[in-house]
Amino acid sequence: MLLQKQILIVEDNSLNREMLVEILKEQYSILEAENGQEALDILRRCGDSIALILLDVMMPVMDGFTFLDQMKADENFSLIPVIVTTQSSDEDDEVAALSHGATDFVPKPYRPQVILHRVASIINLRETAAMVNQLQYDLLTGLYSKEFFYQKVREKLQQNSDKKYTIICSNIENFKLYNDTFGVKAGDRLLCEIADSFRNKVGINGICGRFSADRFICLQERTDCTYTEGNSVNTFSFQEKNVIMKWGIYEITDDSISVEQMCDRAMLVVDSIKGRYNRHYAVYDDEFRSKLLREQAITEVMEEALQTGQFVVYLQPKYSLNDDFLAGAEALVRWIHPEWGFMSPGEFIPLFEKNGFITRLDQYVWKQVCALLQDWQKRGYPSLPVSVNMSRADIYQSDLIEFLMGLVKEYEIDPALLHLELTESAYTENPEQIISTVEQLRKIGFVIEMDDFGSGYSSLNMLNQMKIDVLKLDMKFIQNETAKPVDQGILRFIVELARWMNLSVVAEGVETREQLEHLRMIGCDYVQGYFFSKPLPCAEFEKLLEMEISQYTALSKDNWKYGSNMQSVLVVDEDAEYRENIRKTFEGQYRVLEVSNTSDALTCMRDMEQGIVSVVILSMALQKNSAFSFLKTIRQDPLLWRIPVLATICRGENLDESILNLDMDDFLCKSHPFQDLGRRVRRLMGISAFLERERLLQDEACRDYLTGLLNRRGFFNTIDAMRNEDLPLALYLFDLDDLKKINDRYGHDVGDELLCFFGDLLRQNTREGDILCRYGGDEFIVVLRRITPVETIQRKGNEICRGLREWEFSAGFHTTCSCGIALCGLEELPSAELIKRADVALYKAKKGKKGGCCLWKEEEMNEYEV
Ligand code: C2E
Ligand code: CA
Ligand code: CA
Repeated sequence: MLLQKQILIVEDNSLNREMLVEILKEQYSILEAENGQEALDILRRCGDSIALILLDVMMPVMDGFTFLDQMKADENFSLIPVIVTTQSSDEDDEVAALSHGATDFVPKPYRPQVILHRVASIINLRETAAMVNQLQYDLLTGLYSKEFFYQKVREKLQQNSDKKYTIICSNIENFKLYNDTFGVKAGDRLLCEIADSFRNKVGINGICGRFSADRFICLQERTDCTYTEGNSVNTFSFQEKNVIMKWGIYEITDDSISVEQMCDRAMLVVDSIKGRYNRHYAVYDDEFRSKLLREQAITEVMEEALQTGQFVVYLQPKYSLNDDFLAGAEALVRWIHPEWGFMSPGEFIPLFEKNGFITRLDQYVWKQVCALLQDWQKRGYPSLPVSVNMSRADIYQSDLIEFLMGLVKEYEIDPALLHLELTESAYTENPEQIISTVEQLRKIGFVIEMDDFGSGYSSLNMLNQMKIDVLKLDMKFIQNETAKPVDQGILRFIVELARWMNLSVVAEGVETREQLEHLRMIGCDYVQGYFFSKPLPCAEFEKLLEMEISQYTALSKDNWKYGSNMQSVLVVDEDAEYRENIRKTFEGQYRVLEVSNTSDALTCMRDMEQGIVSVVILSMALQKNSAFSFLKTIRQDPLLWRIPVLATICRGENLDESILNLDMDDFLCKSHPFQDLGRRVRRLMGISAFLERERLLQDEACRDYLTGLLNRRGFFNTIDAMRNEDLPLALYLFDLDDLKKINDRYGHDVGDELLCFFGDLLRQNTREGDILCRYGGDEFIVVLRRITPVETIQRKGNEICRGLREWEFSAGFHTTCSCGIALCGLEELPSAELIKRADVALYKAKKGKKGGCCLWKEEEMNEYEV
């Protein structure tokens, strides 16, 4: 059934009113008012459904002209056409009516045909041409405007409830870019062309509208064909113009849903595939619905999650390629939900960006980071900058600058420590706003990083227009570009450009050593990626930081020690010019020792007078594979094996597997820039200093604090490292006969004095390289290397025992020791067996007279075995 249009009759004379009702009631539904005031009240109640007003001029309470003035002033009703009824032939009245905004007039007395005709044509007019320039049509394309589209669709659905319809919404993906590139005129032309194809496509039974700049919508009768990338929607192709159209489809099945909602859903689906290059259309279906529901669920709890601290900041380390040290971190948020568990930002950030919650979350993250920076400051950590992410929506917050300034004030941190990562897309959307915001932020001292550079339609123009500090190369870009040879590809060019513009370059998403080396080669400044570390909880990051600090202090402490304590680098290289280059590189920094062959290198390394060599730079091109055997030798030498070796190879030389299998710490191609060499040597120095310290610590753990001899642990470490060259050897087990007695009688100080005296006695009677150990309270072990014959061995033992008798305590008191000796010839014996034998011999010695020595002999010892 056709909906009847409503007409409002405003007339004080009831007779006249009834006449008009009589004339019109067949075709229209009628509302009546007795004066202007009543009419206004009706308008306010149901103004938007009134198609036309018939208005008398002369009325009590409020006359017709006053009413006209008031309704025309109200934009809600100003467009409702008004026909004024006048006394016949009163020309003044007619003119007055028109000048007050009436659309037309009819003279009294009423002539039904005239009235019906006028009313019909005016209502018709209102819905067509007369209003084109107003709300209902889009001026540019002539398609329906939003409200009118809704209206038309509502009518269509009511009139054709037996038919099936689909609402299709489209969006031009890159319209702004098109406008910027080709100009607004061309943009307008494109929109008109699209409008035309819409009109042709839907035919006379369809309805088309334009909702905003590049958003078109239409209602189409539904046929049975399903939508695929190839058909229906894609018949609009503007691909030759590089225009990417996206389509959202909503199939109307439920007429209880409002038209506005249907259109919203079509638009929601089209928005969901924005930026997805391989998706051109999407249908509002169950899957989409459940995604919406999921989003709804997230939306419901996000506020609470923020309040209850479910959002947690993780830190991903950034390293400097200049010195290989930790140089900062990026804060990345995680959501740890009590039921849903750990959620990655990919799951919720896009939604928060849509619903606006991202600004709340970001402000929270920034605050956490500032608090962390302050905490680090208090704990005396070195200042390490942390980057935070900034969404597009953040830029539009009017209080953005105040908020950030408030934070650095509150937490008393240097704004330069808070790096702000902006995405490129923020720029493409609204350049003016972002340029001015960034400018202000930089003035305050924040550091601006351009995130994801190289991911979208990177515009170099942006770099030109907006001053930033850091370019952060997108990880996809890194992963693609680093696969190409260094001198090809655009990466090197970008880095050079950045250098020229005084920007630092951070590469993110570095996953492999190859990528790292590539980036190092082209001069990138900082790197971040799984190769180094995943994003870490703050506490773990702090552990990492502390480790770095200890390495750094070890390194810098040694670095700044000049003079004889200066660390030295040994260059083993056949090329004198190269050696000289290295010496120049490290002048004043390290002592550079130069040799041209490996045997000189070994001599140099073993010569402790020279001080310890901290790093060896070894040419792999030395004569007859001597570099290989040199490496093998030092790796087996207990004194040298820890010294880091940096191997150099010539450009073009084939790097065969065997080199990589060798135990070296780093290697470098000889065409390296010398600063690169410096960087690596510094790093190895760090390792060397670290190991040195560790060695000292370990030594402590292996020594007896009182006598300075090895303790039991040190003894086993050392004896297990003995080699065949050390054979034959003799193991002496000494026991101080009276230590307990002396301790009891004269006190522990005297006992300690005795122990120290005995330690010294052992040192005096042995050579460097022999093993001396305080094995237990009053037991000592001595191992003499390469010693024969038996007589000498026994004499040594006796000498030591005699030596003790010379110790004379101030009271004139004398003491003795006993000694068991076990021998190991050229056949290796386990150290435990040796000690056991010496112990048996010691037992025998004690059995005899105190202060004697006894040598373990198999045939004699049986009676003593326990
Ligand atoms: P993004 O800013 O580009 O951050 C880098 C993303 O790459 C992080 O993912 C990081 O974990 C990941 N990534 C780092 N190194 C590697 C690597 O070597 N290989 C691979 N495959 N990935 C690596 P995440 O943490 O899932 O964050 C995703 C995105 O979510 C971020 O991309 C950022 O756009 C957004 N986001 C994260 N936290 C926040 C935040 O607090 N605020 C805002 N506005 N956005 C955030
Ligand atoms: Ca980022
Ligand atoms: Ca990024």
